[in-house]
This record gives sequence, structure tokens and C-alpha cells, in this order.
Amino acid sequence: MTRAYNFAPGPAALPESVLKQAQADMLEWGDAGASIVEMSHRGPEFMEVATRAEADLRTLLGVPDDYAVLFMAGGATTAQALLPLNFASDGDTVDYVVTGHWGKTALRQLTPAVRINIAASGEEGGYRSIPARESWQLTPGAAYVHVTANETIHGVEYRPAWGAVPPDTGDVPLFADFSSSIASEPIDISRYGVIYAGAQKNLGPVGISVVIVRRDLLARAGQPRADIFNYSSHLANGSMLNTPPTWNWYVAGLVFRWMLDEGGTAEFDRRSDEKSALLYGAIDGSGGFYRNEVDPAVRSRMNVPFFLADDTRNAAFLEGAREAGLIGLKGHRVLGGMRASIYNAMPVEGVRALVAYMQDFQKRNG
Ligand code: PMP
Repeated sequence: MTRAYNFAPGPAALPESVLKQAQADMLEWGDAGASIVEMSHRGPEFMEVATRAEADLRTLLGVPDDYAVLFMAGGATTAQALLPLNFASDGDTVDYVVTGHWGKTALRQLTPAVRINIAASGEEGGYRSIPARESWQLTPGAAYVHVTANETIHGVEYRPAWGAVPPDTGDVPLFADFSSSIASEPIDISRYGVIYAGAQKNLGPVGISVVIVRRDLLARAGQPRADIFNYSSHLANGSMLNTPPTWNWYVAGLVFRWMLDEGGTAEFDRRSDEKSALLYGAIDGSGGFYRNEVDPAVRSRMNVPFFLADDTRNAAFLEGAREAGLIGLKGHRVLGGMRASIYNAMPVEGVRALVAYMQDFQKRNG
């Protein structure tokens, strides 16, 4: 069996060693007589898995003690709906900075009980840049400011070249969707009120998400809500208010361990620089055969959308890529074209293979 280089945006490639470990543990966990997927989440075996996963994630991301870590069933969209329910009171204003498709999706999850202020939006410019911090119309006393750290479809990410990252929001806590860039570089968690991420890009399999919350924010009354939508209840129950997605939690734990073994977020920062520079270099150096339209100051290191000058050749490009062992490159339907997602599990060799294929395709079609 040959595994291709998988550039899919999420669910995305996982490290091969993690898949092999999961395969080995699938039939029987140690000598427990059952698979980890078949055991009680409250039994000693799974409790150990869960505790270790949280400890490893805390080490990996440098999560301070005054922040809680929750493992939640479901994806980032669910988190987007739970933020206003947990952290905004009736009539509070919430500030949203919209820099792409997922920031816009977040707006659609808001409860009507809050006032929405779109503090800044890149929509007019086709989400090819991030509005300058000076242009943001923030609301004094807002419940929070929400940003999308990396826009998975539009390929726009807050990078140091844009300005101060993370943006300063004064006394108003900054909430950030880190679904597609978490653990790709060291970040200062203490600058954020909430960080959340669906696991299916950099952290593991789809079906679980990670929510990192400054503990004092959990004391906010929020909206009247069912217990299952209450982050405080989840925390009080160790993220086991109901049956958690044990398999996903376990595989995510393997990915956390793998990232620590590989050298942690500093090493993935270095690799992300290297991989993204190779790919953008190939696009920019193609004399217009390929193009990426994002402002270089905010180009994503995780998701690289690119287009052929002649888009009638898209299907041929993708077909040839598949034959060369490069999959998952079709662009999102919102943008068309191509997109290469180069998360932590993508080795630099995969990006080199993609660049070689792109150059070869250009030679044959240029
Ligand atoms: N935010 C971002 C940045 C995403 O990339 C995605 C999914 N691709 C989502 C939110 C939605 O995540 P989910 O499908 O897990 O709800």
C-alpha cells in the first residue's frame, strides 16, 4: 500500500506513526481484553488516556493554570454557537472581525439576544487581506471580540507582517478560532480569553474540539441555556458531562504526543515557514502560470489557495496530481481553483513533491 501526500483541508492527513499506533490499539488495549473504543469513558484505562491528553496539550501549547481546557464533542461551529450563550448577557454587544468564510459562519451562529457589531470585514476586498487594526470599530464594553486566526478557505492568517499579533483589544477579551492553525507555532495564550479549534486539521480526527478558556470568564452568567451547552458544567465534569467521543480523544492524544516528540510548536513553526515559503515561492516564480491573490503580509502558512491562469486546465492538473501521489488539492467551491493544506502532519517532502509536480505541469502546459 502506498499512502499519497494528502493536502486535504480537514479531515486532513494524520502522522503515519499515529495511524499505526491507533491500528495496533484498535483490537485490544494493552491486555484489557477490549478495544479502547469499547471501554467505559469512566474506567481507569480511558481516564488515563484523557488525563494524559490534557496534560500533553497543556505542555504543547503552554496553557497557563488559570485557563481551563475542555474536550467537546462536535466541531468548531458548535463552539461558535456556544460562545455567546456562555459569555454574553442579554443585550450585550459582541464584536466580530470577519476575514473570510469561517468568520462569516461564526456570525450565523449567534443568538438573537446579543447585538452584533461587525468591527471590521475583509469582504469587500474578496478577503484577500486583513483590515488594519486602526480601522476596527470596536465597542467599548463589548462582551468579547471574535477573530479567525487562520481562514482555511481564503488562506488569510494573522501574521507578524500584518501588525501586532494578536491584535490588542484592551480590556475586552479576545476570542479566536484557531481551528486550522493551532499548534503551528508558539502562541501566548494569556493574550486570549478563549481559543477554540476543531481537531480535524492539526489535532486529530474530526468529531472533537478543544476549547481553552480563561477561568474567570466562566463565572459570567451568559444566556439561559441547557446544561449541555454550559461550559462550566462541562468543566465541573472533566469534559464528561455526557459520553465523550472517546476514540477521537484518544487519537488526538496520540497526535499531541507526536507533536511533542517532534519538537513541539517551535519546530512546527520552523517547518511551516519552510513549507509555505517553498510553495509560495513556486507560485510567485511561475511567471503568472499559477497565482495566489492574498496580500503577502497575511498569507496563510497552513492553507494555500492557488489558481491556474487558464482554469480550463484545473481538472487536468488535479488528475495529474493524483497520478503523482498528491491528493486533496481541489479548491473549496467558494473560491474554485486549487488549495494545498500543509498542516503539521505534512512533511516538507510532500511540499517538495507538489512543487516538482507543479513545475512539470507548467512545462507540459505552459
Ligand atoms: N472555523 C474554521 C477556521 C474552519 O476551518 C472550520 C472547518 N473547516 C470551521 C470553523 C468549522 O468547523 P466544523 O466543521 O468542525 O464545525
